[in-house]
Amino acid sequence: MSSAKPVLISGAGLGGLLLAQSLRSHRIPFKLYERDDGSSRSQGYRIRISVDGLNAVEQVLGPARYERFRAGCTDLGAGKIEAIDALTMQAKPLAQPGNQGGDRVGPPGGRDVVGVDRAFLRKTLFEGIEEATVFGAQVVGYALQEGGVVARFAEGTTSPVGFLLVGADGVRSVITKQLTKGALKVYDTGARAIHGCSPVGAFEGLGTGVFSIRDDTREGGRIAVITNTMRKEETPSFGWVLVGSPGSFSAPNDDFSVTGKAAADLSRQLTARWHDRLRPIFEEQIDDEAVFLKMSTSSPDGVTEWDNEPRVTLIGDAVHAMTPAGGVGANTALKDAAFLGRLLAGAGGWKEGLTAEYEQEMRAYASANVKMSFERASRLFTIRELTKAI
Ligand SMILES: Cc1cc2nc3c(=O)[nH]c(=O)nc-3n(C[C@H](O)[C@H](O)[C@H](O)COP(=O)(O)OP(=O)(O)OC[C@H]3O[C@@H](n4cnc5c(N)ncnc54)[C@H](O)[C@@H]3O)c2cc1C
Repeated sequence: MSSAKPVLISGAGLGGLLLAQSLRSHRIPFKLYERDDGSSRSQGYRIRISVDGLNAVEQVLGPARYERFRAGCTDLGAGKIEAIDALTMQAKPLAQPGNQGGDRVGPPGGRDVVGVDRAFLRKTLFEGIEEATVFGAQVVGYALQEGGVVARFAEGTTSPVGFLLVGADGVRSVITKQLTKGALKVYDTGARAIHGCSPVGAFEGLGTGVFSIRDDTREGGRIAVITNTMRKEETPSFGWVLVGSPGSFSAPNDDFSVTGKAAADLSRQLTARWHDRLRPIFEEQIDDEAVFLKMSTSSPDGVTEWDNEPRVTLIGDAVHAMTPAGGVGANTALKDAAFLGRLLAGAGGWKEGLTAEYEQEMRAYASANVKMSFERASRLFTIRELTKAI
């Protein structure tokens, strides 16, 4: 190894955790800093993991741990989405030409798609790296030093010197802001969402799979629920996202810190005319789990260029925020983590040009995914313009 200094990772989300696992398996020292205190995070919704994510997790965890992870996932077949009319429960015809294969979850690939509880995935990726993780550590920036970099924390302290800093701190990344000098922006699509969680019994009889339940009768524009459901014996509850076209609804006063009952009640109100078989999803939901979300995206024109800094780079939503449409955000974050981990292992640590090589290849596949996700979101929710950077 070129250095006994660690890799510093800001953010223990899916990307940061998988990168840490990769470094651990290659015996490269690292420190993982997470802003949250680690006590509890309401991240219980199920996400869909397809070919990129599954390949990345398998490659990093190895066969035995991968099999254990896979046993905790639900098969969603080839990822086809069942589109249903929310008022009549009839199957919806596919609206767009060029979509004859049906709406799909994630990019086409040789592997099937699985649904996984986000909390379970995080727990799996946390195993074995506990001692190298610091919770309650809010990174506010970094400072370059001769042969390394330090992370700066909110309380005014700094990390030990690392040979590389990786910003894995999500859509509002402070590392991104400093590294790209504000060039890499996140845009508000205007579409709004409520994420909720309901007992599995509320959807019983409707089957398992990925559903897009659409209501095109509202004046303000389409609203739709996207959910993947599973059998009762697999989980007591399931997550769903109610997404609305720009102008269809928002958080009270557009205040996204309002959560819980206010969000749950708005979802009940919006779906009050929906079919009787669907109403229990909203009536029986767990109010505390409901949150308002903005649907944001990086530039659909591609991941913006910035001047490469050999000692600092970015993975996941920090560099390519995507709408939930297409189900590729987490998959791409996991792919970044496995790829960067592989490059670091191949170099035996850090080497000149490593972050530039990573960024060049990541920019190509991530740009394609941001574009695909944005196009799907635009088609589904009539997004006309990207208003302001957030
Ligand atoms: C409702 C919804 C459904 C989705 N469904 C899917 C899906 O089905 N499939 C899919 O592929 N993707 C999906 N996504 C997208 C996916 O969740 C994200 O792309 C993915 O979580 C990105 O991972 P990440 O590690 O880059 O960031 P995150 O998971 O956001 O993790 C960032 C971490 O950094 C921490 N952090 C932030 N700031 C700081 C700081 N200053 N200092 C230290 N730590 C910090 C945060 O607390 C967090 O733990 C969905 C997203 C949403 C909102």
